[in-house]
Amino acid sequence: MSLLKKIALNLALASALVSPALAQAPQAKNVIVLITDGAGIETWRAASFFRHGALGHEAYDDFDVKVFASTYPLNTSNEPTNTNEGSVTFDPAKLWDATKVDTVFEGTIGNFPGFFAGYDYSRADYTDSAAAATALASGTKSYNNAINWSNNGEKLKHIGEYTVETGRALGVVSSVEWSHATPAGFLAHNVSRNDYVGIGTEVVNSGLATVVFGTGHPHYKGDGSYVEKPDDKAFRFVGGRETWERLTSGKTDYAHIEKKADFEALAKGDIDLKGKSRVIGTAQNIQTLQFNRPGVTAGNLLDNTPDLKTLTKAAINVLEKNDKGFFLMVEGGAVDWAAHANNLPRLIEEQIDFNEAVEAVVDWVENKSSWDETLVIVTTDHGNGLLQGPDSNVNAYSPVVNQGAGALPLVRWHTDTHTRELVPVYAHGVGADYFTKNAQKDPGLATYGVPEENRVYVDNTDVFRAAAHAFGIEVPAKN
Ligand SMILES: [Zn+2]
Repeated sequence: MSLLKKIALNLALASALVSPALAQAPQAKNVIVLITDGAGIETWRAASFFRHGALGHEAYDDFDVKVFASTYPLNTSNEPTNTNEGSVTFDPAKLWDATKVDTVFEGTIGNFPGFFAGYDYSRADYTDSAAAATALASGTKSYNNAINWSNNGEKLKHIGEYTVETGRALGVVSSVEWSHATPAGFLAHNVSRNDYVGIGTEVVNSGLATVVFGTGHPHYKGDGSYVEKPDDKAFRFVGGRETWERLTSGKTDYAHIEKKADFEALAKGDIDLKGKSRVIGTAQNIQTLQFNRPGVTAGNLLDNTPDLKTLTKAAINVLEKNDKGFFLMVEGGAVDWAAHANNLPRLIEEQIDFNEAVEAVVDWVENKSSWDETLVIVTTDHGNGLLQGPDSNVNAYSPVVNQGAGALPLVRWHTDTHTRELVPVYAHGVGADYFTKNAQKDPGLATYGVPEENRVYVDNTDVFRAAAHAFGIEVPAKN
């Protein structure tokens, strides 16, 4: 390339008024990724049927880009193996194999008949939330348990770090502990997701994020009750007792909030962060916003914790103060917990809570930002439960059956843990077409009853690449 061309290109990249003809990549100001944890296609549909009595009425149903993603990990080891041995492969054709089998999948809450070879394939070699978060956030597949940690034992640079380097702000919101696997994937590095204390300490001490909201509060049990004097273990999700004491006494870069009323005030743009520009919010529950309350039915919510859309609005109110823009990850984390329990009412309750957070984001884009400056991606990190219709024991992959708004759809569970299903990815706004440009065809997706143009899939690592691409960030080539 000639020197003149180089200069022209550099000028084009540097300028906010970049000419479309010269632009190398779309320049999104903001990227918002919303992840419902552990939701195969029928989980999304079950929630839509319950909420609307029909499909097609969720905010993401209006998005331009509707593709699927593979989610398999590099391997299923719980620690780095430093070798390619045992690497997981993925062939979508094997998912759709309707050959009858008489296998039994041994779950935690019970055993599940195999029924079809494709179900067995789906239930094998699945990712955990840590390897999935690492893939989504760093663009690199790794072993299960990895938090931005490679199979060779090296730290992986994640989108949160790239974001902050560009001068944009980073926000992470979850309905589960803010040191849990998915939020940790956008905040930290650790050889193991189970090192909550190490992850929590890194989140507070690194000061990388501008906003971190979730649960993990040491003074409140899963049922919402107050604990006067928690033991040391109760502080694990917030970086340990010493980190918590520094955080809550104003001795860090962060303001700290925990009351439902404070999250609600921040969501209305009306709260004093006592001169600090960064905030960590630990809602008053050690486990989840709602899922761990007593009982197994929906409703009768705990009244001391905010919902996910309130956390989302509150986070955006802080992040949008950065003139350069922001990256925000919002996780509906307890969908996964409900799927592990095969609890349909609460699965739907959690998925609706997530869908309302998506609506809050779309409202913000349309009223305060625009689709020309913001990219929104809505997806999940993996399937869980292999939820399907009542006759999916005889008809492979038959869908859940709608019973109308307010009524539980008819379903059948086929596992109580994760799967390697192809999962939905919805995207809209600047740079969303990255997904369609990088997708490959899988005619087998006709099984899900989606139109022909949507029978395509990307890999979960493409979520990282789409976000980086939208921001105009150069990242290492895919290996
Ligand atoms: Zn997960």
